[in-house]
Amino acid sequence: MTTIQNYIDGAMVAPVSGDYLDNYEPATGQVYSRIPDSDERDVAAAVAATARAFPEWSTWGEQRRYECLMRVAELIAERREELARAESIDTGKPEKLAYDVDIYRAEANFRFFATAILHFSSESHRMEGQAINYTLRQPIGVVGCISPWNLPLYLFTWKIAPALAAGNCVVAKPSELTPMTAYLLGQICIDAGLPPGVLNIVHGLGAKAGQAIVAHPLTKAISFTGGTATGRQLAATAAPMFKKLSLELGGKNPVLVFADCDMEQALQTTLRSSFSNNGQICLCGSRVYVERSIYTEFRDELVRRTSQLVVGDPAQPETNQGALVSAAHLDKVSGYLQLAREEGGKILTGGERVLLPGRLEGGYYIRPAIVEGLPLQCRTNQEEIFGPVITLQPFDTDEEALALANGTDYGLAATVWTQHLSRAQRLAEHLQFGIVWINCWMLRDLRTPFGGVKHSGVGREGGVEALRFFTEPKNVCVKWGL
Ligand code: NAD
Repeated sequence: MTTIQNYIDGAMVAPVSGDYLDNYEPATGQVYSRIPDSDERDVAAAVAATARAFPEWSTWGEQRRYECLMRVAELIAERREELARAESIDTGKPEKLAYDVDIYRAEANFRFFATAILHFSSESHRMEGQAINYTLRQPIGVVGCISPWNLPLYLFTWKIAPALAAGNCVVAKPSELTPMTAYLLGQICIDAGLPPGVLNIVHGLGAKAGQAIVAHPLTKAISFTGGTATGRQLAATAAPMFKKLSLELGGKNPVLVFADCDMEQALQTTLRSSFSNNGQICLCGSRVYVERSIYTEFRDELVRRTSQLVVGDPAQPETNQGALVSAAHLDKVSGYLQLAREEGGKILTGGERVLLPGRLEGGYYIRPAIVEGLPLQCRTNQEEIFGPVITLQPFDTDEEALALANGTDYGLAATVWTQHLSRAQRLAEHLQFGIVWINCWMLRDLRTPFGGVKHSGVGREGGVEALRFFTEPKNVCVKWGL
């Protein structure tokens, strides 16, 4: 059984308390590794190492930082298969998905921000006849990065890479449910020659290790991805300390399917946007609204295709749906399906627990579910389930579709299927979301701003937005000489 260690000051170290937590394999329901149950003492050691490393790392220059981060990317690429297997075992997601999406993206995150820092520039403002202002964008110092379990290495590196590229030193914490690839990343950083203390990875519980990172007086900025309730709690700690905050939170994303769409494209992609990674992607569409004239046809075909998805062993290439991440999450998703029934919904397909034979018999498997017949205001349509469950509802007009789409507290991502260009543009103007996809889903350009509005978050990640978040602008005003 692997015993994961913290990565602090360039070395793998045990938690100060000596205590460890069990880490479960979702595919089997069995404990397969242990992770440090870190507390504020481990965080204090990590922050101290980070603060020591900062003066040198921040003055290395962009070119040297670029070279170092590219070495990390290359080592991720070399160990892609091992990392994908580890991610699959830790999360329950199909190994193929982990390979194609998660690990590919973790590598891309490092490559992208290593090169982005070479092109990063700041503004100047000339005051005719008087002065020139120029803006320095300096690294902040010690920053905290906290990430969730659904795309472990993908989202961890999405924060760490820009923070490091911009010259900061980082104390990071992955989810306690999915620590394995973060642990392997620590080893990769050692092999890549990242100087000690530049990145520190502390494992453990959110309320203990995570809270200690947020509350530490030396962490000047916190980049967080996770649930809305956690984000609120985190902001309550960080805001009175005037820390810079980036919060990427939950969603309840709508998909609008108009009668003039390319039906085959819309069906194929809606199947993916509903059930990829078992619906455990913040961008998954969970409320699907279909124009009434094609509702029955679209519904019946989506139900047919959903019922054919293969729920099975994440290690097998034919598996579409692996296990949910934890027993608690399986209970949560099952509880929402029960609620949907109580609220008057009809389950058109799925929702049953799947019991697989042999070593998989204790795994957290469930059939992807489609629910029909629920109004917008019910809890099933308002609260984030974050599992393989979608609701379907017909609409008659563009205005009704827009009102349904905007009718929750969340505002992360919306998808529109239509061939009508001006309708698409009009909706994009009025949809209250940080991201709008027209005739596509999860088509990601890493240069674009990424994030949500309303209860889905504050701030943006991606491209220049991330580099701006991880730097402090300082204006310098130089008066013309006399
Ligand atoms: P979570 O909020 O429970 O945990 C996220 C991280 O925060 C974990 O590392 C956890 O240990 C830590 N944490 C928990 N309490 C903390 C505290 N008090 N102080 C500091 N850290 C704390 O979320 P989760 O269950 O791991 O992830 C699922 C959620 O993440 C969903 O709501 C999903 O929508 C959201 N998510 C959002 C995005 C996005 O980009 N908007 C992307 C992925 C996931």
